[in-house]
Amino acid sequence: MTEAKETTCTMAADARFSEVTTRPFDDDHLREECAIFGIYGTPDAAAHTALGLHALQHRGQEATGLVAFDGKHFHAHRGMGHVADNFSQHSVLDRLKGHAAIGHNRYATTGETVLRNVQPLFADFDFGGFAIGHNGNLTNAYLVRRALVKKGCIFQSTTDTEVIIHLMATSTQHTVLDRMVDALQKVDGAYSLVCLMNDALIGVRDPWGIRPLELGKLGDSWILASETCAFDIIGADAVRDVEPGEIIVIDRNGLRSIKPFPAAPRRFCIFEYIYFSRPDSVVEGTSVYEARKRIGAELARESHVDADVVIPVPDSGVPAAIGYAAQARIPFELGIIRNHYVGRTFIEPTDQIRHLGVKLKHNANRNQLTGKRVILVDDSIVRGTTSTKIVEMVRNAGASEVHMRIASPPTTHSCFYGVDTPERSKLLASNLDLAGMTRFIGADSLAFVTMDGLYRAMGETGRNPRAVKYCDACFSGDYPIVLTDQDGGSVPAQLSLLAEAS
Ligand code: SF4
Repeated sequence: MTEAKETTCTMAADARFSEVTTRPFDDDHLREECAIFGIYGTPDAAAHTALGLHALQHRGQEATGLVAFDGKHFHAHRGMGHVADNFSQHSVLDRLKGHAAIGHNRYATTGETVLRNVQPLFADFDFGGFAIGHNGNLTNAYLVRRALVKKGCIFQSTTDTEVIIHLMATSTQHTVLDRMVDALQKVDGAYSLVCLMNDALIGVRDPWGIRPLELGKLGDSWILASETCAFDIIGADAVRDVEPGEIIVIDRNGLRSIKPFPAAPRRFCIFEYIYFSRPDSVVEGTSVYEARKRIGAELARESHVDADVVIPVPDSGVPAAIGYAAQARIPFELGIIRNHYVGRTFIEPTDQIRHLGVKLKHNANRNQLTGKRVILVDDSIVRGTTSTKIVEMVRNAGASEVHMRIASPPTTHSCFYGVDTPERSKLLASNLDLAGMTRFIGADSLAFVTMDGLYRAMGETGRNPRAVKYCDACFSGDYPIVLTDQDGGSVPAQLSLLAEAS
């Protein structure tokens, strides 16, 4: 493997990290997980992968990486920060030669964000090089890692993903594919994977299909990506979802598919429709934008209130607010304007500036608010900090009433399947009832779409507890995959998983 000039050393990367993890101070959302992309069969695989990762930037902004294969050698570049920070120079992409490549955008759900944890991870096996990018979170990684370390395995990173590499290395199976199946049968949790080995691209989705993985085509090239928006940017066509429990192998002989795992109930993450995925993506056959509008319409049916105007909390509340306004027949206006140039790289220079809080990111459009009864629509409430500031801002702009409407059920539980959620104790809805939450955010009224309303928006008649179609554990506490590490009391929370081994 030849390593392209990466961020020069871990210390340099850490210094950079102190900038890029300075988060927008008002951002009260669950953190997107990670993005994965892979392509086989084009001479400029790295450039296509960089573009795909750029389209998937919303799923992870802390770090990014790319591994390409040219038929003889692997070439890699990993760095902290955004895709454009790392892959905009020809000098970088020119070094990443090859007809096949995989890439990864990272938001850390396990392990620290240091360069050694940036994916794709790479290992030299007896069968050759192997790179892996993972979206999701393994729920027994801590226990598996402990057992592997006792056997003598030496881990290079603190990510959960690395256990898959060591399980493959210690497997007694003969073919690479059999080793991979053997390894994945020993792990629990959510995983969508792209892997690159000597002249083959592999895509895998866990048997529950928690995280998305889409298959696309560009001419003779096959593509794997977290969302279809990554196909659009390179002019590729979406072909289909990778099915839960499916392994797809793409090589010079074309594409083949196997389903080696016992079937499990399909439980795709419903939060992908509410917030994580880009609205222009189609995941699991459903347009994210249309799903959000339908959730907004359900919300209007369930919690109508007389008002003069429907205002979205931008950007993520916009599609649901459009659906709400159309259903309620109340004018839709942009009463809050978002500054798109306040990002994760914004450095808070002083306490005084920090206290400006939400105003740095959002500003009231007074003309649309003064003297009006306002319905504010947002996608979710996590800690309640953003909602509190937005309600205050809208009141200060002269709104006579402020009614908050949320296009998801109350977020009462943490996610252990690849999304960074605060501990339960920090989730507003896990501490307060509806009246308490309404007081906390300072609204005249507050309503969430019900679980049945959410499922109706997804084309169901409601949530059938005997045949639940999605993972909705952060609203219901009904975790579809065993939480081995948590239940065993091994680790206190997802974010500290493996920390003691670092
Ligand atoms: S717990 Fe919530 S965020 Fe996590 S996979 Fe399930 S629905 Fe998605």
